[in-house]
Amino acid sequence: MMPSSPASFDAIILGAGGAGLMCAAVAGQRGRRVLVIDHAPEAGRKILISGGGRCNFTNMDAIPERFISANPHFARSALSRYTPADFLALIERYGIAWHEKTLGQLFCDGSARQIVAMLLDECAAGGVTLHLGDAIRDVDHADGQFRVDYGEHSATAPALVIATGGPSIPKLGATGFAYDLARRFGLKVVEPRPALVPLTLPQDEALFRSLAGVAAPVAARAGSADFAEAALFTHRGLSGPAILQISSYWRHGEPISIDFLPGRRGWLVEAKRARPRATVQTVLADFLPDRLSATLAQRIALPGPLDEKRDAVLKEVEERLADWRFRPNGTEGFAKAEVTVGGVATDGLSSKTMAARHLPGLYVIGEAVDVTGWLGGYNFQWAWASGWAAGQAL
Ligand SMILES: Cc1cc2nc3c(=O)[nH]c(=O)nc-3n(C[C@H](O)[C@H](O)[C@H](O)COP(=O)(O)OP(=O)(O)OC[C@H]3O[C@@H](n4cnc5c(N)ncnc54)[C@H](O)[C@@H]3O)c2cc1C
Repeated sequence: MMPSSPASFDAIILGAGGAGLMCAAVAGQRGRRVLVIDHAPEAGRKILISGGGRCNFTNMDAIPERFISANPHFARSALSRYTPADFLALIERYGIAWHEKTLGQLFCDGSARQIVAMLLDECAAGGVTLHLGDAIRDVDHADGQFRVDYGEHSATAPALVIATGGPSIPKLGATGFAYDLARRFGLKVVEPRPALVPLTLPQDEALFRSLAGVAAPVAARAGSADFAEAALFTHRGLSGPAILQISSYWRHGEPISIDFLPGRRGWLVEAKRARPRATVQTVLADFLPDRLSATLAQRIALPGPLDEKRDAVLKEVEERLADWRFRPNGTEGFAKAEVTVGGVATDGLSSKTMAARHLPGLYVIGEAVDVTGWLGGYNFQWAWASGWAAGQAL
């Protein structure tokens, strides 16, 4: 029996995550015949688990400076043409209730499922064909046509969009497929690293690991990056928003610096005047959780009442607590990372359309690209904006 001839489309999108679905919906509604293929059994799995099930779907302050890339200007064009307000307008058109949690972060009141359902409705409105649950066996390019073999099927199109994301959380079906494919088609890849990920501490920091479960508002620094949010001690090291944010900037071997009392200066010398018989630990306990203040006081090792200490010594303690160095020995890796820093190098892509410069018809969007946002809805905004940009160009 002759194998049936491949189905023909205007565009094939690999990956039914946020970026792929947005791109498919936009291109479909512009009249393109679009096929989306994903090996997972359901679309938008990362959307479903995001934001504790409520999806932090955008951030009202999604300025380009809050994205990490070898080319910090690359994201500017797409972000300016599809903005948080555009996505919010879509959400409101679907009557999805939302709220701002903190720092411009917008979440669904109900469930992340509403976002996936909305994107699938938008795809349906564009007549998009969605094929889930089959592995992609091969991708080829010849005579201006891309051919994709998946499961028992084949399809061809003059345009191919790589939207298979990054390798974080492999148990959800995440792979480095985008990088392999991009390399095969001549694009470069900036070394991928786990980001928005907890940091691990070496054995000699066991004292801090005994604080597992304790959280405190701190300012965390790595290099020139600085985040004032909560940090959380874990049984393996450090987590919490401040640490997740800083992990995207941290490089192996570097220290991270924690200010345990951000914004406070002179507090210990002032305490000496006001409460001469207090100790470092009792004063610390005014600002920090008890277990943390006890551990820090143990490390500082300056027992006895404050009025027995010189001001200069107390100032040194203040300085140490404002710049406490931890030297993480690693991260919890792609298994726990919310995103990937690095990815398909932007110098091979058009920032306006996300098209490969040297291979007409090839596009890369979403997390697969070397653009990574801060924690707080930035990564979805990049998925929507880059998907929209390519969807307009297909
Ligand atoms: C736990 C968690 C919580 C998060 N919370 C938030 C949040 O609240 N706000 C925010 O902005 N960002 C959040 N993120 C980040 C956000 O989920 C991603 O940045 C975003 O999903 C990237 O979209 P994407 O479409 O590029 O990739 P993905 O959503 O990863 O989609 C890629 C798709 O490609 C498919 N795929 C992969 N490999 C293959 C292959 N070989 N063959 C076929 N299909 C393949 C996958 O199954 C997947 O459906 C979170 C991430 C995690 C892990």
